[in-house]
Amino acid sequence: MKKEDCIFCKIANGEIPSTTIFENEEFKVFFDINPASKGHCLIVPKEHYDNIFDIDKEVAGRLFSLAASVARSLKKQLNCEGMNLVQNNGEIAGQTVFHFHLHLIPRYTGDTVNVKWAPGQADVEELAKLAKAVASDL
Ligand code: AMP
Ligand code: ZN
Repeated sequence: MKKEDCIFCKIANGEIPSTTIFENEEFKVFFDINPASKGHCLIVPKEHYDNIFDIDKEVAGRLFSLAASVARSLKKQLNCEGMNLVQNNGEIAGQTVFHFHLHLIPRYTGDTVNVKWAPGQADVEELAKLAKAVASDL
C-alpha cells in the first residue's frame, strides 16, 4: 500500500522522477541522487515497507536476487573493482528515507566511500548464549 508523503512510494509510482535502470511490477531500481560513487543505485519494492523489520520475506528474497543481477550488470558496465551493498534500518542506523531500500555502491581505487567500523572485542560465552536465543526465535 502506498504511504502518503513517502518519497520512494512517489518514485515507485512515477509521481517523482528518477533515473530508472529497471522496473517491473514489484521493484524499481534507480540511481541515487547524491551518489557515494559512480553508479550508486537503489533497489526499492514498489509496496511500502519501512525497513528490514517489516518487509515481506518473500519480497526480500526476490529483491536480493534482483540485486545480484543488477550488481553483475553494473560491474560489467562500470568496470568497478568491488561493490558494497548497504541497507540502513532505523534512524540510529543512518536511515533517512523510511521506505525499504538497498544501496548498491560500486567501489573504485581511490574513491571516498566509507562503510568501515572500528572492530570490537567478542565475548565468546555471551555470543554462544545469544546465538541460541536468536536461533530459537527464527
Ligand atoms: P538512507 O540514508 O539509507 O535512508 O538512504 C537514502 C538515500 O536516498 C540517500 O542516499 C539519498 O541520496 C537517496 N535519495 C533521497 N531522495 C532521492 C531521490 N529523489 N532520488 C534518488 N535518490 C534519493
Ligand atoms: Zn513508501
